[in-house]
Amino acid sequence: MSCDFFALANTGVQGLHPYQAGKPTDELERELGLTNIVKLASNENPLGVGELVKAALEQQLAGITRYPDANGFYLKQALADKYDLAPALFTLGNGSNDVLELIARSFVTPEHEVIFAQHAFVVYPLVTQAIGATGVAVPAKDWGHDLPAMLAAITERTRLIFIANPNNPTGTFLTAEALYAFLTQVPKEVIVVLDEAYFEYVDKELQAPSITWLTEFSNLIITRTFSKAYGLAGLRVGYSMSHPDIADILNRVRQPFNCNSFALAAAQAALSDHDFLTASVALNNQQRAVLETFFSDQGIGYIPSKGNFITVELTQDPAAVYQALLHKGVIVRPVAGYGLTKHLRVSIGTALENETFMQALLAVLIELDAQ
Ligand SMILES: *Cc1c(COP(=O)(O)O)cnc(C)c1O
Repeated sequence: MSCDFFALANTGVQGLHPYQAGKPTDELERELGLTNIVKLASNENPLGVGELVKAALEQQLAGITRYPDANGFYLKQALADKYDLAPALFTLGNGSNDVLELIARSFVTPEHEVIFAQHAFVVYPLVTQAIGATGVAVPAKDWGHDLPAMLAAITERTRLIFIANPNNPTGTFLTAEALYAFLTQVPKEVIVVLDEAYFEYVDKELQAPSITWLTEFSNLIITRTFSKAYGLAGLRVGYSMSHPDIADILNRVRQPFNCNSFALAAAQAALSDHDFLTASVALNNQQRAVLETFFSDQGIGYIPSKGNFITVELTQDPAAVYQALLHKGVIVRPVAGYGLTKHLRVSIGTALENETFMQALLAVLIELDAQ
């Protein structure tokens, strides 16, 4: 007889629920015997892999018998060059999720509170809960972060604040002015994580000069990723920029080889492929407008987004719409777990993928209305 392992798990972990990822394409293939599936569920880059990344990966193949560079020297150097920062400010992660978790594990104890916004990225409450700390979800304003309310939520026990800009899954966006004003009011011993996973998709003139704030706010940590605009979600590589003393702490806690050799090489190649990034952002801008026009024309509500996804508000049951779309070979993302009970999130794909989605959605809504 086995013992009660649930009772043995630490209290925070007992309250956890597994992360609900977007449904994988081959899972739907297996379940429904469909082909030509369109997956618009995980905010991945629909453009495929760039040539420079492909070449870098092929070159790495012969070396996989060796451990990767534990310090990611070349990738940190490439990032440092890109942003004109010292390499000592960077922490690399197995996706930026890894870095988000490292930050929480390094600085937060069960005695602390962690502040995030209602409808914000689910990893924030997840890492907080795993530690057994208290998560404080501040009610959203217009689906996004209510910064004054988040400031007001700070107590003596607050150790960490997570802010996603743009936010996933709502796509909402905070201006540089609002963020800067917020940072000036946060106590110096409260760490602010500014999660900029979708930074590259934001119009240049709206992008916050957040990196220039690092010298003024030593409690600021900026996280970014190669999973979205750079198209490397499957390789798992992201990073943070922070005060070197914070990077030093994170570097002690992380796994020695948290970024594998393919991820390191591909990320470095992706950084040099300006054409791929430009094309990715241009496609997203163009197709986001196509989808927005479609939603408006069809009277389907949506939350305006600065990311590579749009969250729609439906009058029909979103779970039923999700299931019906699956049967038509289109995977979108349910977001009820984010407290978005009337919504579905759709990632912005290629013109063809979006066309397939729009046709399928129209057909599904008509079918459901007829029932
Ligand atoms: C996708 C996403 C990330 C990054 O995920 P990784 O693949 O782990 O880099 C981080 N934050 C938000 C808000 C995201 O949507």
